[in-house]
Amino acid sequence: MDLTEATLAEIRDAVRAKRVKAVEVVAHFQRRIETLDNQLNSFITVNPRAMEEATQIDAILASGRDPGPLAGVPIAVKDLLCTKNLATTAASNILRGFVPPYSATVVKRLQAAGAVILGKTNLDEFGMGSSNENSAFGVCRNPWALDHVPGGSSGGTAAAVAARLAPAGIGTDTGGSIRQPASFCGLVGIKPTYGRVSRFGIVSYASSLDQAGPMARTAQDCAILLETIAGHDDWDATASMRPVPSWSTDTIPSPKGMRIGVLQEALSEKIDQDTSTVLNTAISTLRQLGAEITEVSIPKLRHAVSIYYLLATSEASSNLARYDGVRYGYRSRKQTSDLESFYAATRSEGFGTEVKRRIMMGTYALSSGYYDAFYLKASQVRRQLRDEYMAAFAQCDVILSPVTTSPAFKIGARISDPLEMYLNDIFTTSANLAGLPAIAVPGGFAESGLPIGLQFTANHFDEHNLFRVATALEQALPLVKKVPHVI
Ligand code: GLN
Repeated sequence: MDLTEATLAEIRDAVRAKRVKAVEVVAHFQRRIETLDNQLNSFITVNPRAMEEATQIDAILASGRDPGPLAGVPIAVKDLLCTKNLATTAASNILRGFVPPYSATVVKRLQAAGAVILGKTNLDEFGMGSSNENSAFGVCRNPWALDHVPGGSSGGTAAAVAARLAPAGIGTDTGGSIRQPASFCGLVGIKPTYGRVSRFGIVSYASSLDQAGPMARTAQDCAILLETIAGHDDWDATASMRPVPSWSTDTIPSPKGMRIGVLQEALSEKIDQDTSTVLNTAISTLRQLGAEITEVSIPKLRHAVSIYYLLATSEASSNLARYDGVRYGYRSRKQTSDLESFYAATRSEGFGTEVKRRIMMGTYALSSGYYDAFYLKASQVRRQLRDEYMAAFAQCDVILSPVTTSPAFKIGARISDPLEMYLNDIFTTSANLAGLPAIAVPGGFAESGLPIGLQFTANHFDEHNLFRVATALEQALPLVKKVPHVI
């Protein structure tokens, strides 16, 4: 069996049928990480107990018991999810050396299903960034072009999965961090409806926007992972009680009759030629498959980046107040005479530049005198944005747009201009603000050879239609079977 190119579903089936041992699968991907990740820097920590866990899966199988639906599948997990007894850094110096005493619900569910955590992947510090350049553990590189960014903040998971260092992985998405790196690395990535997946044990960035979700090479693999990690959790009051459908085994019907609204605002944004060609090809392909193509407009989208950066930084300034050098994580060694200056020393040394910038922006937006003008106003426009989406979904089943205005950019190209970096999130932040599920699927390639993704957004809890349209496109698009250079 070609483990490198095998999908998660194929690996799972082979392990369960005892055609390959879980230990062989894990050893294969560990060897790939060892030989290739020095070029990518996609992993911060590899799990030293992965082999032990695989051995247990094989033992369960040998004894005739059921090791679970993800038996022996190695998974790369963004280093923003707590893993019991395995370092969790959020790519920040302030959490260097932190070993959580418990695992995130997502991680527990993966392990209960028989998956093996291969390691913890690189990201922008606390999820704050779009390029993986804001990491205390160094930039991660795009396997399609090593001088380009893999996207962010889940850049490590994207690079690892694209380079076949893992068959699939987990990312988190607060304003695009699953979809944008998936798009930059030629993968499928889904941000579920807010509340679909428990946030328990995920290092908080902006709690009203954060969601974890799968990243893989096929829509079906994402469906398998999502049905494993989704569902109510007593440890997260915002996790929905809704039953989790079995998207991966549903016979996904063709998109015949499906109403696809093309986002008009996307057409007026300055999207580059390659991206617009890819978008148009997808539209004609879907039309040929019998989908009904309509136009939708979300006028408030033009405010999405502003609302997002006000609300996300406000929530972050509050969430990150807990890193004080006392309870856990990094502690400054500087001689200080009072508690206030001890906190200041720890936090100035522990946080990176972008995180500090955001804490300051958020503190400012929440400060008395400015609260009404910034935080309150942004919350109101957020509601209006959501209402516009609700009106749009009366006319269509899913909304089609690009993920970004252009494919992956070069390392260093945008890092000195935060505003330009933020504007990169123009098409992704609105799904988080409105709590909607959205999927990125490979749409084609730029002249340069870099992958370009497309985004579909659906109504709350309608992931079904996202998997439906993603599967249809995956099967119908005349995509040349290209693979990244580093594999
Ligand atoms: N790029 C966005 C930000 O920097 C989104 C990040 C994310 O989704 N975690 O905030």
